[in-house]
This record gives sequence, C-alpha cells and structure tokens, in this order.
Amino acid sequence: MSKKNIVVLAGDGIGPEITSAAVNVLKKTAEAFGHEFTFDYKLLGGCAIDKFGVPLPDETVTACKASDGVLLGAVGGPKWDGMPADLRPEKGLLGIRKALGLFANLRPAVIYPELAAASPLKEEVLARGVNVMVVRELIGGIYFGPRGTKDDGKTAYDTEIYSENEVRRIAKVAFDLARGRRKKVTSVDKANVLLSSRLWRRVVEEVHKDYPDVELNHIYVDNAAMQLVRDPSQFDVLLCPNMFGDILSDEASQITGSIGLLPSSSLGTEKAGLFEPIHGSAPDIAGKDVANPVATILAAAMLLDNMGLNAEARAVERAVSEFISEGWRTPDLGEGKRVGCAEAGRLIAGRVHA
Ligand code: NAD
Repeated sequence: MSKKNIVVLAGDGIGPEITSAAVNVLKKTAEAFGHEFTFDYKLLGGCAIDKFGVPLPDETVTACKASDGVLLGAVGGPKWDGMPADLRPEKGLLGIRKALGLFANLRPAVIYPELAAASPLKEEVLARGVNVMVVRELIGGIYFGPRGTKDDGKTAYDTEIYSENEVRRIAKVAFDLARGRRKKVTSVDKANVLLSSRLWRRVVEEVHKDYPDVELNHIYVDNAAMQLVRDPSQFDVLLCPNMFGDILSDEASQITGSIGLLPSSSLGTEKAGLFEPIHGSAPDIAGKDVANPVATILAAAMLLDNMGLNAEARAVERAVSEFISEGWRTPDLGEGKRVGCAEAGRLIAGRVHA
C-alpha cells in the first residue's frame, strides 16, 4: 500500500474535463491496488492569471515541488492571447518546467491496431508494430547555448553546446527506460559533422557500460527522420539531443495519427515529474464534453510508472486498449460507439483491475 500526493493542474480549455477523467481513473487504480492517492488542485495558466494576475503562482510551485508527481491538462486560449508576453499562460508552463528542473522529455508513440487507418503510414508498415519512446534532452543544446547577432544584425548565430554531465543524465534516463521495454537504445546525433555530437556519442557509450543488458546503436539524425517513416518498428527508445528530439518527437507522434491519444512526461532534478497530453487546450471544443481524455489518462499511467507503480500503470494501459478495441470512440477518432469525455473516463476507470 502506497500513499501518494498528486498535484493536478487542470489549466484551461478542455484541461478540467480531461484531467477530471484521468483523476477518475487514478482513483479507481488506487482502489483496485489498495493505495491512497490524494489530489491537490492548483492553478496554472489562464485560470491562474484570472485569479492571481500571474500564470504561475508561488503556491503552485511549492505544491508541485512537494508532491510525488504533477498531472497537467493544458493551458492557454484566446481569452489571454492579448496579454503581454510575460503574463501569457504558456509562460506558466515554461516556469513550472524550470522550477522542477525538467531535463528529460519522454514521448511514447504507440499504434493501436484498431486505429491504424488514422495513420498516414501504409498498413503493411504499421503491421510490424509501432512502440517508440522518444527521450528528448529538454534544457540544453542549441536552444540554450550562446546566441547573438553581429554585422549590424546581418548575421545571427546559435550554438549547440553540451557538457558531459548533461549527456550522462539524459542517457541514464534512456537506458533505465529501455530496461523496462525492449532493451534497445538508438542514440541520435550528427557525429559526422558536429563536435558536440561526438561528445554526445562518447558519453552515451560510457553510460552504456553500466547497462550491458541493453543494446545500443547510433544513428545520424537525417537517417533517423527517414527510418521513422520507413520502418518505425525498428526503434524502441530513441535518445535525442534537444533540437533533434523536438523534430523527431513530432514526426513520431504523427505516425500514430491522432493527437488526442498521446501522452508525454518530463522528468527532472526534483522528485516530481510533470505528466501531460501532447495536445493543447483545444478551446474550440472546450466545455462540450467531446474531448478525448485518453492522452491524459495515458499520462497518468506514466505518472504511475514514475512513482514506481508499474503494475498499476500496465493496468491503466490495458484498460485503455480494451476501451479502444471495444469500439468506443470520442468524435476525434471517427466512426464507432460514440462516447463523450466524462463517460470515456468512467468506462476506462471501470476496466482497471489489479
Ligand atoms: P490544440 O492541441 O489545443 O488543438 C489542435 C486541434 O486538435 C483542435 O482542433 C482541437 O480541437 C483538437 N484537439 C486537441 N486535443 C484534443 C483532444 N484531447 N480531443 C479531441 N480533439 C483535440 O492546439 P492549438 O489549437 O494550436 O492551441 C490551442 C491553445 O492551446 C493555444 O492557446 C495554445 O497556446 C495552447 N497549447 C497549450 C499546450 C500545453 O498546455 N502544453 C500545448 C499546445 C498548445
């Protein structure tokens, strides 16, 4: 029996609907496995601006840091689009990522056979199976390296820069994950051209010595982009520097064809990680009970994994698979047994068993 304290940042738009469905599933999971979860609701994004005048109130940061994990819906919407840059909902998101020191972004891309038609890839390619985990370094590399302009603004530069420590900690995340999966890490770089990539490759190989049970290979980023659409089944964990991971994780998510199904997690230097769907706050469908809660429910499964509750996470994933294979469909997934957001949450919760 575990006691866990989970902070819920519902956010804006469909955020409250999808997190409510996911909390339902977590409550059922706690009941089925004999755990005690408490849910601490805090504000982030537009709703925090409305109440406190800032997108990330201090009490939200304090609660997140003290928690076992943070479940996030999504933030933003037209209501706040006119705000000054520093007071926009997205600023709250960047702020909480920074406060939790989140250096690793994990994005699984999985194909459900019943939904293969939504993928842009051919059926025979998908038939080999798609289950890729993109592990992206999130707070280093070219997005954070020295930058500037010269020649009166006629020349500009950004710098790809990595230290051994930055590479080591993200590589460990990738190898640890691979151990619970198909035990294969493919490290992405451009070592034929970039010095920073050569350092990346050397450190990944050093870390690999502690994981002899995991297979490691290296791939150039241009080839990785090609192989992901040619035969995604060859990848298990794809370990990427920040910019390469930014691009490849979007490519991988498109392979699955549906934005409402994909979760993401960010892990960092604090105990609490951040778990969220990859989509935004979908203001066009907010309040209509039509949003697909599956991405958020799968984010909750990643949260369970991160809290060491692996059997519980698998039970939630199984419940989602059952729900999909029984033909239940929120409107974004096309034809099927029509279901709304809240009911989808209830149906999935009802399928979670120890
Ligand atoms: P979006 O992901 O919110 O929506 C894109 C399209 O996908 C919309 O048609 C929407 O209805 C649909 N969609 C998204 N999630 C869905 C779900 N669960 N079920 C069914 N359909 C779904 O992206 P956008 O429209 O570009 O952005 C809307 C707002 O969200 C903006 O304010 C943006 O800044 C914000 N945003 C927030 C995050 C975040 O909180 N992490 C991420 C991206 C965008």
